[in-house]
Amino acid sequence: MHFSIKKILKAKFKQQEQQKLLDSLPMEIAQLKELLSYLNREDAPACDHTLKETLHFLRTHSLEVDNTVNWLNEHGGYCDCEVIYNVYDEVGDIVDWHLDAEDVQNTSTM
Ligand SMILES: [Zn+2]
Repeated sequence: MHFSIKKILKAKFKQQEQQKLLDSLPMEIAQLKELLSYLNREDAPACDHTLKETLHFLRTHSLEVDNTVNWLNEHGGYCDCEVIYNVYDEVGDIVDWHLDAEDVQNTSTM
């Protein structure tokens, strides 16, 4: 019994988290996915501990830079590799999507 209640509560919590996240996101979720795929592309340069690649993507897609950087910071993304690991980790789990790239090291998502 309590298993299903727990499951419902968990789903509800996830839904709220998802809504909160989407509300706070300064761009479309599809664009965030695109950004992560871009950062995670095969020929991406090694992270130089700045948001260089992220900023490049934002500028070439005419996205809002300041708000997006603030948002990424809030979710643990202070450089390109952290955007992939921290932001993807958090957001990917909440909105249930996953990069298809094979070199994503994080296999621990449920
Ligand atoms: Zn980095």
